[in-house]
Amino acid sequence: MKFNTKTIHGGQIHDKAYGSVMPPIYQTSTYAQSTPGGHKGYEYSRTHNPTRDALEKSFASIENGKYGLAFASGLAAIDAVIKLLQPGDEVISTNDLYGGSYRLFTKIFQNFGIKFHFVGMDKTSQIEDYITPATKLIWVETPTNPMMNVIDIEAVSKIAKDNELLLAVDNTFATPYLQQPLELGADIVMHSATKYLGGHSDVIMGALVVNDKDLADRLYFIQNASGAVCGPQDSFLVLRGIKTLHIRMQRHCENGKAVAHYLAKHPKIEKVYWPGFESHPNHDVAKKQMNDFGGMVSFVTKGNNYDEAIKIAENLKIFTLAESLGGVESLAGHPASMTHASIPKEEREKTGVVDALIRLSVGIEDEVDLIEDLKQAIG
Ligand SMILES: *Cc1c(COP(=O)(O)O)cnc(C)c1O
Repeated sequence: MKFNTKTIHGGQIHDKAYGSVMPPIYQTSTYAQSTPGGHKGYEYSRTHNPTRDALEKSFASIENGKYGLAFASGLAAIDAVIKLLQPGDEVISTNDLYGGSYRLFTKIFQNFGIKFHFVGMDKTSQIEDYITPATKLIWVETPTNPMMNVIDIEAVSKIAKDNELLLAVDNTFATPYLQQPLELGADIVMHSATKYLGGHSDVIMGALVVNDKDLADRLYFIQNASGAVCGPQDSFLVLRGIKTLHIRMQRHCENGKAVAHYLAKHPKIEKVYWPGFESHPNHDVAKKQMNDFGGMVSFVTKGNNYDEAIKIAENLKIFTLAESLGGVESLAGHPASMTHASIPKEEREKTGVVDALIRLSVGIEDEVDLIEDLKQAIG
């Protein structure tokens, strides 16, 4: 089955009770048993719920994997992956990382004796310097947030295989429409389904997809034992979102490209970060592993003026100033005062998050209106 069909039919069967075409929202915590232990496959909704099961099958289908797991948030999904580890184990992670992932690693799991190394992975050879006998997992995020660095998943997967390490890829920014990490050798794909998979900024959810049965069993055990599951209503919303993922992504990519090119020609703009430009340092890798370049675009204004960047962010009318990304509506963020405000100025500037950096999640509105909005806001 092709991707554009999988988003609509992947893993989905019509309801057995009444033939409803859409999976019903099974808003129940428990299930009647005819005799102790005599049930129809469902006992308690932390463990299994039919609506969540349908979603988990959809996740697996669109990522070309065998087993899908749905969680209460993206961070709950990452939390489950790190719980595969034990005190003394080490993780090598991308250094340009979603702030919440960094916080979970350093402020929670480091306290339980797990060690994290944060490494620039656009040169994959740097990873090998950090491998010790205690290394168990490589954590990759690509493209990265907000600097749009692209990491060669296939090259990292070779290093992981040679050293018998697990490779997990946060595929939130790309989505399986653009990039399928399991096909490139990853063991685990993770999503904040809050973003493009849900696609409508109305739900918080996380996802994992794997191919290995033993790994799946360990993760299902953690999902049930730790209990960070999502509810049936949210499962329904994300299932509905996934049905249009391919057409939304197509438009996100078209509009992202138009916005990136407009900004690149603007006399008041110093630099535009978008992996579709040939001048992007990882453009060749992006071209190799992604089907298109996505709807995320960051830019810096000339003179790197903090107040001016704030003014642009405030002036935008169609782009809403808000955290998050991946919804049908366009959003703008100012990392230095929003998502990255807690990182000291010198630290964040080292990775490129300067005062005048603005990050756009380009939505699926009409391209003409989006460009008009940027024009009036930048002045
Ligand atoms: C938002 C996000 C997360 C965290 O997901 P939540 O659903 O907010 O818990 C993780 N990784 C990336 C890349 C994200 O954008």
